[in-house]
Amino acid sequence: MKGTKLLALCIFSTAFLSFTPINKKLIIIDAGHGGNDMGANRNGVYEKDIVLTVGKEIQKFNTTQDKYEIILTRDNDTYSQLSDRTTLINKLKPEIVISLHVNSSPHAESKEEGAEIFTQNTEGSKKLAEKISKKFNVLKIEEKNLHILRESQSPTVLVELGYMNSTKDREYMTSEKGQKEIAQKFVEVFNEY
Ligand SMILES: [Zn+2]
Repeated sequence: MKGTKLLALCIFSTAFLSFTPINKKLIIIDAGHGGNDMGANRNGVYEKDIVLTVGKEIQKFNTTQDKYEIILTRDNDTYSQLSDRTTLINKLKPEIVISLHVNSSPHAESKEEGAEIFTQNTEGSKKLAEKISKKFNVLKIEEKNLHILRESQSPTVLVELGYMNSTKDREYMTSEKGQKEIAQKFVEVFNEY
């Protein structure tokens, strides 16, 4: 009985510590979709995989600094309900939240290429979008009424990294070089905070 209690306490402490690092502020990266929810797809490439890989790369690159701890809303190919994602965000109260997605347009080959950023109706969210837009080729920044933007109480943006149906964007977002560059740019944004 004692052993079980102690074990439970240990597990609890470890989980608690991993979510509340001392002196470190939190940034949440939300990789969109997951599991049966594939998101946009083209030529056997899925949005859910691109955003997960980029999210994990951000976490890896981020280990070079100790100001922020990166928490992922999912770190594997499982679907997490939107409400679970925002419940986690509002519990952890991160400095900022970035939800990663990939765009697609109705055309076979997109006429547009580049990123789009959707914001909340707050100064914090707009400031974050502005900082990100300096690093990426951003087509537009727009306020939007989406679950994660509406329900998150932290400054949050949703970034469409590029167009799935733009060959150029897709090849970049699926290349190791492209994924690392995207991740590096986000970490640069964090370092400027
Ligand atoms: Zn998406």
